[in-house]
Amino acid sequence: MDTTVAEEYGQESDTIEHNWEQYSSETNVIEAGSHEFTYWKNFIQRTRTCNLSYEIKTVVYYCDIHDHTRSETFIEEEHHSEDHS
Ligand SMILES: [Zn+2]
Ligand SMILES: [Zn+2]
Repeated sequence: MDTTVAEEYGQESDTIEHNWEQYSSETNVIEAGSHEFTYWKNFIQRTRTCNLSYEIKTVVYYCDIHDHTRSETFIEEEHHSEDHS
C-alpha cells in the first residue's frame, strides 16, 4: 500500500498545467554555407558562388508555476547573397 502512495505522489507535478508566457525573443542570422549556381550572360554560361544564411528567431517562454523556462527556434527567412532562382 505504501509504495502505491509514493508513486502517485511522485507523478503529481506532471499533472499541473504549465503557464507558458513569452519572456523574450531574439533574431539571429547564421551562416549556412555556400553553393554554386549557373547563369547565362552574353550567351555564355557562368558560375557564381552564393552564400546562404538563415534568419533564426529564438523565443523563450517562462512558466511562473514551476519557475522554469523553455525555448523554441524558428527559421524566419532564408537569404541568398545572389539573386537567383
Ligand atoms: Zn511549468
Ligand atoms: Zn543561393
